[in-house]
Amino acid sequence: MDIALVDLKGQLVQPCERLLVPFDSSGVADIDGIMNLLSPFVEKAKASSSCFLGAGFSICGNIDDQTGEAVLVANLHWHNMPFGKIAAERFKIPIYAATDVRMALIAELLWGKARGMKHVAWMTIGTGYGGYLYLDGKLYGGSHGFAGNLGHGIYDERGGYPCGCGQRGCFESYVAGPALARYGQQVVEAGKSPILKQLSEAAGKPVTTRMVFEAEALQDPAAQEIIREQIRKLGISLSSMVNLLDLEMIVLGGGVTKGSPDFIQRVDERVRGFLMTVEARRDLRIERESFDNSALIGAAATVFIKNGVLNL
Ligand SMILES: [Zn+2]
Repeated sequence: MDIALVDLKGQLVQPCERLLVPFDSSGVADIDGIMNLLSPFVEKAKASSSCFLGAGFSICGNIDDQTGEAVLVANLHWHNMPFGKIAAERFKIPIYAATDVRMALIAELLWGKARGMKHVAWMTIGTGYGGYLYLDGKLYGGSHGFAGNLGHGIYDERGGYPCGCGQRGCFESYVAGPALARYGQQVVEAGKSPILKQLSEAAGKPVTTRMVFEAEALQDPAAQEIIREQIRKLGISLSSMVNLLDLEMIVLGGGVTKGSPDFIQRVDERVRGFLMTVEARRDLRIERESFDNSALIGAAATVFIKNGVLNL
């Protein structure tokens, strides 16, 4: 987990610190251990400034942004964990917790490229593929807070790969980082990519997402085909969203978007090619995230907004 003190302009007061999440013996993230790790940092932050307003938490999962309850957080193995309540009782400060994609979008709206816009989607392409929506000038969570799960739209339920959500052939299972690594490993095992094989052997581990991008940059045809197909499916998925919602901007974040310098541009071309209207083709903007750690910056933005100090 990353932690930092952030000022009113969205700037880090000191460099971000990275702490390892402790897990208990059954593989569940240890809430007491996390609080103990955070405690010295929070106490220091409280003491450092008379106008310290509270703490925001971006968590990758389904979080009730009213109560801070972690309804379902797969990578921490939390189910109905009252995170916000526990943190507020422990630190005696206001706590704001929400899903990381919502926080990242807020960062873009307040301090980033989406300032002044009314119809924006944030999408992360990383270990997963999904995002959050800002429609008609309002954050949009949907009836259960699950809106923005674009990655679990189905591309091919018959031939597709099983997805972590329980369905088969979701877009996420084709375009997220683990999918690229899986395809890379498959072409190595089929003897179709000497370059990827070499990269994998040199590192002494199976093919990673980064290796697929490296091989692509080295003009490896199999890796080029993997990325070409990934970008095509992203184009289908993102253009459908734009046709449905008539968005002004899509901000793309996550590790996969940094795989190659022109990744965003290539996605942009594909999306534009699939769009229905000339207006959308002309006006839609697809941008790279403005911050190194958008979810963290957005967590801070949320604290300022909730306290009425700043407004979207
Ligand atoms: Zn899925």
